[in-house]
Amino acid sequence: MKKEFAATILNWYASNKRALPWRSNPTPYHVLISEIMLQQTQVPRVIEKFKEFITLFPTLQHLAHASKAEVIHAWSGLGYNRRALLLHQFAKVVVAKHQGIIPKTVAELQHLPGIGPYTTGAILSFAYNLPAPAVDVNVRRMYQRYFNGLDQGLPMGVAEEKKLYALVKSTIPDHKSREFHNALMDFGSLLCTRDTPRCGNCPLQQSCKFFPRFRKNKTNALFQSEKRKESGVKENGRFIPNRIFRGKIVEFVRRNDGKTVALPVLGKAIKQDYSSPERTWLLQLCTKLQHEGLITFSCQGSSIRLFLAKD
Ligand code: SF4
Repeated sequence: MKKEFAATILNWYASNKRALPWRSNPTPYHVLISEIMLQQTQVPRVIEKFKEFITLFPTLQHLAHASKAEVIHAWSGLGYNRRALLLHQFAKVVVAKHQGIIPKTVAELQHLPGIGPYTTGAILSFAYNLPAPAVDVNVRRMYQRYFNGLDQGLPMGVAEEKKLYALVKSTIPDHKSREFHNALMDFGSLLCTRDTPRCGNCPLQQSCKFFPRFRKNKTNALFQSEKRKESGVKENGRFIPNRIFRGKIVEFVRRNDGKTVALPVLGKAIKQDYSSPERTWLLQLCTKLQHEGLITFSCQGSSIRLFLAKD
C-alpha cells in the first residue's frame, strides 16, 4: 500500500506539477524564504513577493546584514510581520554560528529562530533531498484520509504525531525526498483538498480508505472545524480581528517611519470608523507591536511618533 501510494503520487506529479519559482533552483536559502512566506500566505502572493525578496536580498548574507527596518519593508504585503523578524534573526544566527551555511541536521536546525518541526523537515527534504518528513496540514490530511480513513481532525497527541511522522517517513522513496514532497504538496493543494476533495479525479481512489466514507456521505465524512476565536473589534458593523489592524499599523509605519501624527490620523488610517474612545485600544495594538519588536513609538497628548524597529 505504501509503495503504491508513493508511486501513484509521483506519477500524478509528473504531469500535474506546479511551476513555482523556488523549485527551479531549490537552494537552502530559496527553500527557507519560500517556506517562511508560505506559512500564512497564499501561493500566488508568495510567487510575487518571493521574487522581489530574492532580488533585494540575494543571499543569506545579504539578509543577515540588512537592517530590521529594511527587512520589515521588504515584507510588505505578506502579513504576519513577525515572520520577517524571525527570518532575519535566523539569517544572523546562521552567519554567526554556522559560517552562513544553513545546517542539514535536525539537531542544529531545531535550535534556530522561527524553525519548527515542519520547517525543519521542509529544509532537509526540499533543500538537501534528505528523507525527513515535512508534515504540514495538507500532508497530515492526505495521510489520515488515505491510510486511516479519517479526515484531519483535532490536534494529535504526541504518540499519534510520532506514528504519523514514522508513516510519512516510511513512504519517502529512496533519493527522491525532494520530488516526493513537492508531489505531496501539489496533491494536497490541487486534489485532496480540505473542503472539496476531488476524489472523482484521484488516481488513489481505489485504495483510499477515506473514499468509501466520503462517497456514502460527503457532509458527515468531512471534519467541520470550529472557527478559532480571535480578539478584535467591529469596523462598520463587521467583526475584524486585531491582527488585521496590527498589520495595518505596520503598513502605516512603513509609509510614515519617524513621523509624528495625531492619534486620530493613525486611527482612521487603520479603521474607517475609528473614534476617540478607541484610543486605549489603538495604543494597546501599538504596544503589542512594540513588544514583538516590529515598531517603536512614543505618545504625547494626542500625538504619536512611530518608527519601524531599529537594530
Ligand atoms: S480518493 Fe479522495 S480522499 Fe482519497 S486521497 Fe484521493 S482525493 Fe484524497
